Amino acid sequence: VIQDIEDKPEDLQSRPPVITIMGHVDHGKTSLLDAIRNTSVTSGEAGGITQHIGAYQVTTKDGAVLTFLDTPGHAAFTSMRSRGAQVTDIVVLVVAADDSVMPQTVEAINHAKAAGVPMIVAINKIDKPAANPTKVRTELLNHEVVVEAMSGEVQDVEVSAHTGQGLDDLLEAIALQAEILELKANPDRAAQGAVIEAQLDVGRGPVATVLIQTGTLHQGDIFVVGEQYGKVRALINDKGDRVKEAGPSVPVEVLGLNGTPEAGDVLNVTETEAQAREIAEYRAGVAKEKRAAAGAA
Ligand code: GDP
Repeated sequence: VIQDIEDKPEDLQSRPPVITIMGHVDHGKTSLLDAIRNTSVTSGEAGGITQHIGAYQVTTKDGAVLTFLDTPGHAAFTSMRSRGAQVTDIVVLVVAADDSVMPQTVEAINHAKAAGVPMIVAINKIDKPAANPTKVRTELLNHEVVVEAMSGEVQDVEVSAHTGQGLDDLLEAIALQAEILELKANPDRAAQGAVIEAQLDVGRGPVATVLIQTGTLHQGDIFVVGEQYGKVRALINDKGDRVKEAGPSVPVEVLGLNGTPEAGDVLNVTETEAQAREIAEYRAGVAKEKRAAAGAA
């Protein structure tokens, strides 16, 4: 029922890049995500309060829209990938200038390379007196990451999540990388997306944050997502606003599920509720058999 529709080239439109921030613990992934999010909070917004729905979008000074996955760490990246949901277009590798390359830095490099995702190096904590960006660049060479400052092709930007130094440059570097990738999707087809996170909400029932990958998800659409199905009752964006639809690379909270899906599950819009239920029940059955087989073994 879920066909992989071939999009005609003329139906494709450019879409924002999806970015994951990776790096060693304490090198500033969370701080950087917060600082970037704050660059987009205009003074008019109520106290600068933004929703934490697992992903957010910012607009650069030049008007480029970027989607950041708000789940730092490598577990999210690898578990999504292992479930078949490759949602990241660009990895920002954070390396603390006062600590340089550490084991999880190397792990992140390996993940990005395995996934074939281009990297941008953010040399963070540049405000610290002990910052030594040259050491970072030199040590990255040992892991075949040759940054521009070392005559390589990987963009590197010195930043401080604390002072905000270099943040605009980082966003520009990401926008440039996205241009090179020529990311496209067809917004005029049945939506497909990946679950970034999901939970059972006391007031709202099962809620999933879905990153739309292709097509447009509308209020009222019927869908299957992993072993669950539903009909979109409401869509809420990263600003906490209700929206009628969400297109490619847009993260939205989806309400109207019959159960709670898992991160990495893929959402597909179907034509009828019977189809959606049938696929969901079939998948649940297969999963149950697998568990039984694993238990018997
Ligand atoms: P994560 O584990 O990679 O998510 O790192 P965090 O964002 O939690 O940051 C770890 C520590 O480094 C915290 O105490 C931050 O306040 C601090 N930190 C993060 N970025 C900067 C920075 O640009 N400059 C300085 N001086 N400290 C930073």
